[in-house]
Amino acid sequence: VPADAIPKEWAVGFTPVVQAPRLAAALGLRRLMLKDDGRNPTASFKDRASSVAVALAVAEGAKAISCASTGNAASSLAGYAAMAGLPAFIFVPANAPEPKLAQLLLYGAKVFCVQGTYDEAYCLSRAACERFGWYNRNCAINPYLVEGKKTAGLEIAEQCADDVPDWVAVGVGDGCTIAGVWKGLRQMHEIGLLERLPRMLGVQAAGVAPIEEAFRTGRPPGEVKGDTLADSINVPVPRNWRKAVAAVRESGGTFVTATDEEILAAMRQTGTLAGVLAEPAAAASVAGLVAGRAKEIVGPDETALAMITGSALKDTRNAIRAGGAPTRIGPSLDEVERVVRVGV
Ligand SMILES: *Cc1c(COP(=O)(O)O)cnc(C)c1O
Repeated sequence: VPADAIPKEWAVGFTPVVQAPRLAAALGLRRLMLKDDGRNPTASFKDRASSVAVALAVAEGAKAISCASTGNAASSLAGYAAMAGLPAFIFVPANAPEPKLAQLLLYGAKVFCVQGTYDEAYCLSRAACERFGWYNRNCAINPYLVEGKKTAGLEIAEQCADDVPDWVAVGVGDGCTIAGVWKGLRQMHEIGLLERLPRMLGVQAAGVAPIEEAFRTGRPPGEVKGDTLADSINVPVPRNWRKAVAAVRESGGTFVTATDEEILAAMRQTGTLAGVLAEPAAAASVAGLVAGRAKEIVGPDETALAMITGSALKDTRNAIRAGGAPTRIGPSLDEVERVVRVGV
């Protein structure tokens, strides 16, 4: 990607690393940091890849750009396409959360809501790119996207050079994200800017964990029968599983799973104890650290960084499920006082 291909005002990346001492104490970790990628322009980590894709599409003179996505890759691509003035054709499965759909529509993308699975939406997007000559922003096929995703690893190295975390936890769906973060970290180590490398903790949803299974068994991913509310990591047929398994293995790390209940609890804890809003797939990284502590994979004296890959506002339905109901009262100060006294 030419250095000037990505205008400054696209403002992608260099998201803050938030210290989370109260969340660390709750999890039983010596130190915990959250890299809040929900603060990217379209509110997810995917901006790192979409900005690269749109820059390349413009450089190639493409007439349009396309992807299939459960939500964030799509809303992010639509955002950057709108910034660049490029038409975007997006294939989403029928179950994408409403806020992500809202972003697509406001950014002016042509949205095909495919009445089928994510995998069917993906195959359709690829075929349409071939037939109509659109630029293909699908991680399964486009080798440049990982170069965008690796910038998170470059930044972690830069932001945490003084105190490299023992673990970096990432929610895993297709597998491209964790492989990208690892690539960035490894390259910073190779050029001597990072003293030592963290171990990668890949976190999948318990209901949809084909890559965790592949890592554990050493066999290719099998058929997935379960489900998860964490839509961004609900990928039953991952295309980048080899890259994810190789990255985690090379780092000396491992995979864990988290149930939907554990993911919802992590969303609430991350908001309440650290002031960071995480969508389900993003809070999976925190839930994975909880699982890692419970299984003694992660020790009490260790430090960790959790990638918060998307904002909770990306999925308000589950955010409200995780957060709980507001307290209903009549418009009277006595009622307020009664509630405050009971300490609810
Ligand atoms: C895409 C995504 C992931 C997982 O990335 P993969 O490359 O599919 O493994 C995790 N969290 C969020 C919020 C995402 O959008």
